[in-house]
Amino acid sequence: MLTGKTALITGSTSGIGLATAHTLAEQGINLVLHGLMGDEEGTALAAEFASKYQIKTLFDGANLMDSNSITTLINKAVNFMGSIDILVNNAGIQHTEGVDTFPASKWDAIIAINLTAAFHTIQQSLPSMKTNGWGRIINIASVHGLVASVNKSAYVAAKHGIVGLTKAVALECAEQGITANAICPGWVDTPLINNQIKEVAKRQQVEFEQAKYNLVTAKQPLPEMMDPRQIGEFILFLCSDSARSITGASLPMDGAWTAQ
Ligand code: NAD
Repeated sequence: MLTGKTALITGSTSGIGLATAHTLAEQGINLVLHGLMGDEEGTALAAEFASKYQIKTLFDGANLMDSNSITTLINKAVNFMGSIDILVNNAGIQHTEGVDTFPASKWDAIIAINLTAAFHTIQQSLPSMKTNGWGRIINIASVHGLVASVNKSAYVAAKHGIVGLTKAVALECAEQGITANAICPGWVDTPLINNQIKEVAKRQQVEFEQAKYNLVTAKQPLPEMMDPRQIGEFILFLCSDSARSITGASLPMDGAWTAQ
């Protein structure tokens, strides 16, 4: 059922986005790959996917802080692929610091990339989804879309925001075959959290692997980091026909973090 559809996954040059790209490509879904990567490297990545999975691919390196670049990305994707059927708003950044000294420039960047970019991609992808009467919007929020932690004011604000955006879009699209959901992961083993692990290692004077364990277990009852592919598999399920009634949901995938 999903073979031949097109997915745009923002931030698919690394971590969760890249793992999701592999999971969707295995099903014959055409891919618009995206992320902060040079054109040459990005084009090579797209060619590798095309040849490995026999799908149509495209790469764009739009900086999501710039709304004009987002418009170019969406236009390029729709013109080349015909439509965007599956939109995964995944790209994100993190900066940890107390609110009293949190740099305004970091606040602006986190809100722009982790939240505002999703508004633009959703708004500009909806026309082709509405024309087809089918669409799947999956926003990668975080456990921090549901609860807060210290030193993450901008990230928590952006992730709570994207949970709200998801609900509003789900309501507006409910009669048009388009679902919108947010996935709220706990710790996932990706480059995004390396700085946090290094900070724990330095503070606690422990090795990297021990710091990783200490970081996970400080909040998450399940004492292991998630493999990014687990999120890809969940996204694939949300794209399936079996999941057509799941919309407007904020779905924790957090090792019981928010069960406490
Ligand atoms: P990652 O650092 O491995 O990947 C981030 C991706 O976003 C990269 O492809 C990068 O190029 C892209 N990106 C960053 N800034 C960009 C910009 N200005 N313009 C365009 N692209 C940009 O991170 P990840 O862990 O895979 O994170 C993916 C998503 O998952 C994020 O939204 C993150 O908040 C969320 N998340 C991660 C975790 C975790 O523990 N890793 C937990 C919960 C939620």
